Amino acid sequence: MPELPEVETVKNVLNKIVTNKTIKSIDVYRDLTIEGDKNEFVSSLTGETFLNVSRIGKYLIFHLTNDKVIISHLRMEGKYYEYQESERDSKYAKVVFHFIDKTKLCYDDSRAFGLMKLSTESEYQKEEMIKKLGPEPFDINDVSSIIKKVKKSNKPIKTTLLDQTLITGLGNIYVDETLYASKIHPLTPANKINKDEWESIINNAKEILSIAIEMGGSTIKSYHPGKDIDGNFQTRIKVYGRSGEICPTCGHTFRFIKVGGRGTTFCPLCQLKKGAPINIGLTGKIASGKSVALNIFKELGAATISSDEIVKDLYQKKEIASLIEKNLHLKFKGNVVDKEQLRNHLLINIKDKKKLEKLIHPLVEEEIKNFLSKEANPIRVVEVPLLFESKVDHYFDTIVVIDIDQKIQKERLKKRNPQSAIYLEEINKTNKIDENKNKATYLINNDNDLASFKKEIKSIFTEAKDRIS
Ligand SMILES: [Zn+2]
Repeated sequence: MPELPEVETVKNVLNKIVTNKTIKSIDVYRDLTIEGDKNEFVSSLTGETFLNVSRIGKYLIFHLTNDKVIISHLRMEGKYYEYQESERDSKYAKVVFHFIDKTKLCYDDSRAFGLMKLSTESEYQKEEMIKKLGPEPFDINDVSSIIKKVKKSNKPIKTTLLDQTLITGLGNIYVDETLYASKIHPLTPANKINKDEWESIINNAKEILSIAIEMGGSTIKSYHPGKDIDGNFQTRIKVYGRSGEICPTCGHTFRFIKVGGRGTTFCPLCQLKKGAPINIGLTGKIASGKSVALNIFKELGAATISSDEIVKDLYQKKEIASLIEKNLHLKFKGNVVDKEQLRNHLLINIKDKKKLEKLIHPLVEEEIKNFLSKEANPIRVVEVPLLFESKVDHYFDTIVVIDIDQKIQKERLKKRNPQSAIYLEEINKTNKIDENKNKATYLINNDNDLASFKKEIKSIFTEAKDRIS
């Protein structure tokens, strides 16, 4: 979808194409593209001459003789192409302006979401679609009126910026870029953004939009500002569409989430979430101290849950027991899952482990989702040993990974379960902690004594508390 810089580029191209061209006739191939009466649109504009084209937000405003105005919005795929009369119309032409100089302007729209509306010089700024637009970042020098307007809104800042009534001109690409540059988490409630942060948002938006306009906008996927014209801003995009890539500022991995249905990429460390709730995902290798850490979080006042506990509860359910029996072809002695029996079964039937995971993981994920959506405590910690492998990391805005030296890990495991200590290397291979360390918001070390471990957990908890206040 074209955004402000792309529309600005289209405006500049159109000014070169249409200025001083007189309309001989108009073909409308799709009535719905014209808002209002199609016949009036055609009869009123025929014979008029284009004077120039301006832009308000993402609306193109064509100014013609006799005070006539056309308001045009490109929406998803709208484009304007200039042709000679002897050439064919563009493939998805919806409206064609034929000029007396034997050229024509095709409005092309493969998705047909774009619209055009006839208006006048005195009326067009009063049209509902134009009237409701907020100022562009370029026109904002004082953020106090913005702060006033969002005082009661706890909608995410991303949604607030995309809604063009507060500030106009920032679409998906430029909101992601602006929030990254401003170090603000896209889910931060609008009323939690302070004055300095609003100033940072406006200044970064101005700078990013200016650079994008200078570069002719972005050519993203199928969008081109005009025939043979490509924007180049995509080469300057730092975060949009780059999930999984490494943040050049801090070295962590960019993450992808949906905010109000819109794909959003951000750096979970540079853009730490502010405002409740803070959802912390806790993970680490076997015997790294996950459960100890979870208990410390609980003592400090967080709401906690562990996926091991969830599984334990699931195993107590009759329907889960019979589901496992059916899929793994075994029969438990009672109505619940016999853990001992299951463990022994898996020792012999190694392939069934994957089968079991496939059954259990979605159920655990469901429980985690439930917990996060219903829990009243603003700080929630969920311990998930296979946080990355089971792909639940995206539920958390803060990820704590506990790191441990393998020798120390082995010693601790020996005390707990001498048998599994023998297979430690194999066990370590089954989780992907090492390759996902860079996804951690906090990577803490548990090689030392309990007191220093506690101290690290406490500082994470305190920071989370600061972030919601
Ligand atoms: Zn970063």
